[in-house]
Amino acid sequence: MDERIVSAKRGEDDADAHLRPQRLKDFIGQKAARENLAVFVAAARERKEPLDHVLLHGPPGLGKTTLAHIVAKELGVGFRATSGPMIVKAGDLAAILTNLEANDVLFIDEIHRLNPAIEEVLYPAMEDFQLDLIIGEGPAARSVRIELQPFTLVGATTRSGLLSTPLRDRFGIPLRLEFYGADELVEIVRRGARVLGVTLSADGALEIARRSRGTPRVAGRLLKRVRDFAAVDGVKEIGRADADAALRRLDVDALGLDSMDRRYLACIANNYAGGPVGVETLAAALAEERDTLEDVIEPFLIQQGLIQRTPRGRMISDAGYKQLGLPAPRRAAAQFDLLSGREE
Ligand code: ADP
Repeated sequence: MDERIVSAKRGEDDADAHLRPQRLKDFIGQKAARENLAVFVAAARERKEPLDHVLLHGPPGLGKTTLAHIVAKELGVGFRATSGPMIVKAGDLAAILTNLEANDVLFIDEIHRLNPAIEEVLYPAMEDFQLDLIIGEGPAARSVRIELQPFTLVGATTRSGLLSTPLRDRFGIPLRLEFYGADELVEIVRRGARVLGVTLSADGALEIARRSRGTPRVAGRLLKRVRDFAAVDGVKEIGRADADAALRRLDVDALGLDSMDRRYLACIANNYAGGPVGVETLAAALAEERDTLEDVIEPFLIQQGLIQRTPRGRMISDAGYKQLGLPAPRRAAAQFDLLSGREE
């Protein structure tokens, strides 16, 4: 699954540190989030106080980690990174927090996967920069309070709905990242080409951008693979036809869908008469994790209007049938009502 070329999840060969923009002014797109952050960062610097805690949410590969790095750079403070599943015991969190210097940024990726017992320890740390720990067990147990340096927590999550309300409420600056537009992705591809020393024509860059699923991580990866094909074929300047040929060989279609997306769409269309079908059923039918469907596959298909989430499950839209090259069936009126229904 993670070997998909169009997967937005971080892969093992995504050594993309050199592709990461270092400053806010180099960060392309996400205008609202970028402008708000610039104001809050400037204000915090001016007051010489830590920035309020920031929650970044949105699908994988849109730049949450990159923004967290940039925030620390812009504030001129230290940066520590960890992730929800890596913090197993309260002691792990205590070790990280007590090692922070004044106003440092602590980045917790996948913060929705933090163990609830650890969340409890995090609340007073976020609110009052204090840590309450229980030391020892049984009658000998006692509670100790540790004063912490003030810090900024930057949390990242693909699923803010899974965050507990008390945790979500403790972030003063919630920012939502959206899929990127084609123009922004063209800029990102061109910047990547400059960094990697690849010569791209304007329509070559556009072709890669259009097939990147609105996601910078995918754009970076497609660019690298197109570069490989061009190098082997002795292409000096990569044009639209070169990019198209390479992406076809990688099984990435004109919209950026790969065989996994098509398998997902075809399963709803062919096995469940277009839906609605519950996500658990789909996950079992496709032998995929439910989380993978919800985090990685569905957000882009929903954004493109190829599927819809309804109270009774997923449905494929007329555009989805078209994408599969199938005629859209005539639907009963009741099914149309479902299309406009609440999310599952
Ligand atoms: P996330 O943490 O949301 O999964 P990352 O911050 O790791 O995503 O970004 C994935 C890749 O995309 C990185 O290589 C990063 O350099 C690149 N990237 C993300 N956002 C941008 C952007 N706005 N401009 C240029 N490159 C970006």
